[in-house]
Amino acid sequence: MAPTPAVTAALEHFGASPTQFHNCANLKDRLVAAGFSEISEADTWTGALSPGGKYFYTRNTSTLVAFVVGGAYNPASPGGFKVVGGHTDSPNIRIKPHSKRGAGAGGATQLNVEAYGGGLWHTWLDRDLSVAGRVLVRSPDGSTVTQQLVDLERPLLTIPNLCIHLQTGDERAALKLNKEDHLQPILALADKTLGGGAAADDAGVDNFVKGHEPMLLQEVARKLGCEVSQIADFELALYDTNKAALSGINKEFLASARLDNQATCITSALAIIEYAGMADAVAKDADVSLIALFDHEEVGSASAVGAGSPIMGEAVRRISSALNTGGGNEDFFQTTLRKSFVISCDQAHAVHPNYAHKHDKNHAPKMNGGMVIKNNANQRYTTNAFTGFIVREIARRANLNTQEFVVRNDCPCGSTIGPIISEKTGIRCMDVGMPQLAMHSCREIMGTSDLDNAVSLFVSFFETFRSLDEMTFGCA
Ligand SMILES: [Zn+2]
Repeated sequence: MAPTPAVTAALEHFGASPTQFHNCANLKDRLVAAGFSEISEADTWTGALSPGGKYFYTRNTSTLVAFVVGGAYNPASPGGFKVVGGHTDSPNIRIKPHSKRGAGAGGATQLNVEAYGGGLWHTWLDRDLSVAGRVLVRSPDGSTVTQQLVDLERPLLTIPNLCIHLQTGDERAALKLNKEDHLQPILALADKTLGGGAAADDAGVDNFVKGHEPMLLQEVARKLGCEVSQIADFELALYDTNKAALSGINKEFLASARLDNQATCITSALAIIEYAGMADAVAKDADVSLIALFDHEEVGSASAVGAGSPIMGEAVRRISSALNTGGGNEDFFQTTLRKSFVISCDQAHAVHPNYAHKHDKNHAPKMNGGMVIKNNANQRYTTNAFTGFIVREIARRANLNTQEFVVRNDCPCGSTIGPIISEKTGIRCMDVGMPQLAMHSCREIMGTSDLDNAVSLFVSFFETFRSLDEMTFGCA
C-alpha cells in the first residue's frame, strides 16, 4: 500500500530538515505554497490582518507561528485562540565556536563539538555524519551580512566506537561516554595532499574564521559559493545522512532522526494548511486557529525563542489587538485568553517490548494506537479532567483512537512545553504526543498511522473546539 499523503510529506520533511533552521524553512515553504502570507514582527499588524486571512512569522528563523483568522471573528466580542504547540529542535551535536583541534593521534583531524540537549550519545557512533545549519555570510564588499542555510549533505565525519578488543569487560559493561572526550568526530587525515590546507591564515580574516578548522570552512564556502573570508559566523550541527525510511514487514513504521519533535511540526503544519482550505468551516469560525513551534525545548525552553519566552502570550495579544482596530483593550484581551486552549504535542513513549516493565501496564501506549494523552498529577503535564475530556471527545467524534499515559511512580517523568506555556500565559492546556520508541536516539521509530491520526485530530480540534468549549461551559 502506498504511503498516505501525510506519511509521504513526513518522510520528505524529516529527510530535508537536519536542523531546526531547515525545519522552519521547509515548513515556511509549505505555508507559502498554501497561500499563507508572511508577516514580520518588525512591522505593525494593525490593518494588515483580516478575518479569513492566513499568516505566519518566524523568530530567529528557528521558531514559527502560523495562524488562520476565522471568517466570523468579531472584534466586538472576540473569540479565543485554538493552538497546537510543538518544538522545532532535537538533541544533536554542534560545532563549537573554535572547532580547530589540529592534528591528533594517528594524524586524525577532528572537530571540537558540543552536545546539545539530552541525546542518547552512543547512538551517534559509527554513523555517516554530515554538517548543516545556518551561516552568516558577508557580501563581497562587506557592506551587508545575510543568513544562508547550508547542508553539506555527504558523509564527512565519523565518531568511531572503540573496538571491543581494547576494552576491558568492565568498560564494555559500563558503555560510558564522556561528552567532552568521546564525541569529537574525525573529519580527515591531516595530510594536505588529501585536500587540506590553511586558507584561514590569510590576512584579513577575523578570529571567528581563524578558530575554525580550515577544511570545514572551505567545504562550507564551496557549498555556499562564497569565499572563506566572507563567513562571518555560523551555527552548525552534525546529523546522520541516513534518510528517513519506512520499515517493518508491512511498512507500519517510520524510522528517522528527530521524530521528537518534527513529527508535531509537520503534522500541525499539514493540519493548519488543510483547515485553511476548508472554506465553509473557516467562514463560520469566530476564533483564531494557530500553530506555535518553538526552539530550545530540549534544553528547557528558557530562551528568547523557547516556549518560556513571551512569544505565545505576545502572539495572542498582538493578533487580537491588530484585529480589534480601535476596540481592543486589556479587558477584551483577557476574554480572549479565557476562551483559548493549547494542545501541546510532543512525542510520547510507546511501550518497548524488551522493557515492558518500564510502563505501568494500564498506561502502556503502543505505536499506531493513536494519540497519547499524557497525564501527571505532579504537573509535568497539563492534562486535567476538562482538557483531557475535550481532546478525547474531539477524537471520539472524529473516530480517532487515543491512549492514556502516566509514568510509573518509581520512574522520573519527562516534561514539555505544555506546563511552561500554561505558567506563562494562564491559557488552558493539554499535553499529548505520538507514541515512539528510542526517543533521543540518533535514529528513532514511530508508527505511520499515528501521523495521519495526528493531522486528523488537529484539523478536528480547529473545527470543533468552540462547540465543545460551549458544551462544557463552567467546567474550567
Ligand atoms: Zn520533544
